[in-house]
Amino acid sequence: MTAGSGIQPGGECDRCHAWVDERVTIAIVETGSGPGGSAYGCLPCARIRATGPYAPDWLVGLLDDIDARRGTR
Ligand SMILES: [Zn+2]
Repeated sequence: MTAGSGIQPGGECDRCHAWVDERVTIAIVETGSGPGGSAYGCLPCARIRATGPYAPDWLVGLLDDIDARRGTR
């Protein structure tokens, strides 16, 4: 499974529906046939999801990467 390429172009957050300048992949929709899709969310939503009980490992890693690159921790 891939987690996309990190920061995504701006748009509407799929979780809180706010319009934001940058989004990250917060969920990957896997389907049995045809192409799957991805859900994109703003960083605050991504962090909330990353701390939840169903947080995928790749999302936690993605946020760690972003924090490390920006030196925000
Ligand atoms: Zn959001």
